[in-house]
Amino acid sequence: MTDPSRSFRSLRAEAIVLRHSDYGEADRLLTLYTREQGKVRAVAKGARKIASRKAGHLEPFTHVKLQLAKGRDLFIVTQAETINAFMPLRDNLTQTGRAAYVIELFDRFIPDEETANPSLFRLLAETLSRLASETVPWLALRFYEMRLLDFLGFRPQLFECANCQNEIKAEPQFFSASLGGAVCPRCGQGLPGLWPISVDALKHLRHFQRSGFREASRARPAEQTRKEIESIMQGYFTYLLERELNTPGFIKRVNAALSAQSN
Ligand SMILES: [Zn+2]
Repeated sequence: MTDPSRSFRSLRAEAIVLRHSDYGEADRLLTLYTREQGKVRAVAKGARKIASRKAGHLEPFTHVKLQLAKGRDLFIVTQAETINAFMPLRDNLTQTGRAAYVIELFDRFIPDEETANPSLFRLLAETLSRLASETVPWLALRFYEMRLLDFLGFRPQLFECANCQNEIKAEPQFFSASLGGAVCPRCGQGLPGLWPISVDALKHLRHFQRSGFREASRARPAEQTRKEIESIMQGYFTYLLERELNTPGFIKRVNAALSAQSN
């Protein structure tokens, strides 16, 4: 029989570095999303010293293999090895900005709880990898947003009206962040806070929701549709962050959604 306390004291983990901050005189405090433990904080001792061999592996967006020791309050990084530094994401500001957006959404929505979710870990790693190869960055971002909403339990309802539940037809509709989906033109007459959504934008959102990345990435929406989709998704995320993120019900809902999928 293995001793659980022993395996807990030192563990190997695969992680994406979400962010870091200075800690003490020479150390760094890292926020990591690990495949094995979910979101954790860990100290990298001496990482700010110029000669530190660990430091290069622990920059934000890096995919690393770590050896972690459980300290009194925090994990301590005892070994670090880079799996993928996603170097193209550091090359120019546009690329860095996209990666920062991915990381920020993730960091703000995923609670600080040690609930491992390997599929969510894979989504994050794959999204950074897609952005680094930059074949279709716009699509990689929209696909990520749609999957992240699934994980968080906020999958938008796009096939039936989020108000009356009747089937959505091929005509201009509305989108409601508070109802979490498309709203038919009939219901749209009397409801506040709706955004118009075109047939083409809705069609593409549905496609991203139902498809794997390879299939989703074949879509070539017109520039105007892309702008429309982008602003609806950003509006929805902003709504979720501003209106809900700080309420206990929100965190409970996200935790329940995440643990339901990790089982
Ligand atoms: Zn309706």
